[in-house]
Amino acid sequence: MKDFVKMCAAIGGMKDYVQGGGGNASCKHDANKMAIKASGFTIGEITEDSGYADVDYIKICEYHTGVKENELAEREKNSTPFTMSCVFPDKNGNKLRPSVETGFHSFMKKYVMHTHPVYANAITCASGGAELAKKILGDADFIWIPYINPGFSLTLVIKAAMDAYEEKTGIFPKIIFLENHGLITTSDDAEECLALHFEVNEKIKAYLGAEDFVKSISLSEKDDAYICEDAFVSDFVSTFGVEEIEKSILYPDQLVYLNAAMKDGKIAFSDSSITINAPKKEALAIVETFAAFCYVVKAIKKADLTIQVMDNEATGFINNWESEKYRKSVASQK
Ligand SMILES: [Zn+2]
Repeated sequence: MKDFVKMCAAIGGMKDYVQGGGGNASCKHDANKMAIKASGFTIGEITEDSGYADVDYIKICEYHTGVKENELAEREKNSTPFTMSCVFPDKNGNKLRPSVETGFHSFMKKYVMHTHPVYANAITCASGGAELAKKILGDADFIWIPYINPGFSLTLVIKAAMDAYEEKTGIFPKIIFLENHGLITTSDDAEECLALHFEVNEKIKAYLGAEDFVKSISLSEKDDAYICEDAFVSDFVSTFGVEEIEKSILYPDQLVYLNAAMKDGKIAFSDSSITINAPKKEALAIVETFAAFCYVVKAIKKADLTIQVMDNEATGFINNWESEKYRKSVASQK
């Protein structure tokens, strides 16, 4: 567990990798126990005794194995309550809700790191991203998962792709790209898991000739609202216009944090600032998500690539996803 906490602390504060409560990390630390980030917490908030839930990962893995065609709908519907039933109570007797992405962690190596990094997402949200990944990573063992609704469906598709890769090559792929979503790395060694995560992103950044991410994001409080006047805001508004946020839906977290808040009237833009009417933790998640979005849009366009947006079916699924509503509501309580 010490190595797990260290791994989470190392990346948790890096806003180019982790925005708000996005992403998740896990560690299999006992015969059947896996600690996984709890919903409503950020990766950086994980300590040895908080921010995660212990689940029976063997049961969760079994739930996603050998599912027959005629069982799919029922299993998908029950996957959230099933996952909850696999949670071990913490030492205070409480059961935290494990990350909505717990499923795919269950069949990977001991340590798993999943983030929504701006560098990897500059290719996962671009047309031809899979081919670019091959060019950039050469013969590294990785898999590319075309966009699919998160949760149960995504878990099944990742499992099938990993099994197929291993069968074909005899190698367990430790790097997984999720189209219009993010990156997963996994290893039995926490340091390797983290190193792979950084290595992949740095290679992409160098290949694209992308600039550095903003050094810090400042948020000042004024009349119960939070304001960010950092240069990236005016930069984005003058170059692309606020309408780019509606036009380019890149990934689920953009919808959950940014576009939903805009729809709810929580965000006001000026030419040089963004004002957010929300509790601090939610305001932070919104502004971090916005900064990442600005970076990804700019990086894709600067590299002369074409943005590949989520389609209507995909955005509709996220907007109606009960688990994401829970995450948002927990984020806004703190
Ligand atoms: Zn994710």
